Amino acid sequence: MNVVILLGAPGSGKGTLASELAKVPGIRHLSSGDLLRGAVKEGSPAGLKAKAYMEAGNLVPDELIAEMIEEVIAADEGTNVLLLDGFPRTVRQADILADLLARKGVHLRGALLLEVADAVLVARIAGRRVCPDCGATFNVATLPPKVEGVCDVCGGALTIRKDDDPATVRHRLDVYAEQTFPLIDYYRARGLLHTVDATGHDLEPKIEAALRKIHD
Ligand code: ADP
Ligand code: ZN
Repeated sequence: MNVVILLGAPGSGKGTLASELAKVPGIRHLSSGDLLRGAVKEGSPAGLKAKAYMEAGNLVPDELIAEMIEEVIAADEGTNVLLLDGFPRTVRQADILADLLARKGVHLRGALLLEVADAVLVARIAGRRVCPDCGATFNVATLPPKVEGVCDVCGGALTIRKDDDPATVRHRLDVYAEQTFPLIDYYRARGLLHTVDATGHDLEPKIEAALRKIHD
């Protein structure tokens, strides 16, 4: 297995890009946010711990998410490229990941940074709608569902995530700038950083650019 890390601010389109890329056989998308939201919904011990942090737009403790990611990697079979979306999110998590991959003999192929202008991020998140039943994501402006308010995948009623209200979004962008932004230099310094211009709405060129960088 090879690991590719996706980096980018909330609203940069990491999740959307990753779910498109995961249509390619052998590529798997692992979203830390989805993993955590699943745990919260289930009411597992990890979920109970994570809930308050998430609703406030703060990061959950590093060890909590790192253990969940490790379990998924340990149980994985048949994945060629694992796309990590939302993990690591702090330098400490990046160090934990490096250890974990070294122990498992898994190769870190690189980190793909989706670059988007700040003003675009807030607008994108404001339009975001999610399906509480299957986790599919839509955007009223850029990726509308076929029928307004209804999930294309499973027919569920689309909702707005609790942490997508404007004040929490601004806080999440601050958290990103403080805690996650340093990862860009972290991976650049290790010769692992690749950037994709993710400002435009058109997904196809981004998918192609990302695939080229993953396969290089
Ligand atoms: P975003 O749209 O901001 O990228 P995610 O779905 O990735 O949101 O994450 C939602 C929330 O889950 C975050 O605000 C945070 O509370 C928690 N979370 C996700 N990934 C991590 C992580 N690697 N470390 C700590 N907290 C995380
Ligand atoms: Zn759905």
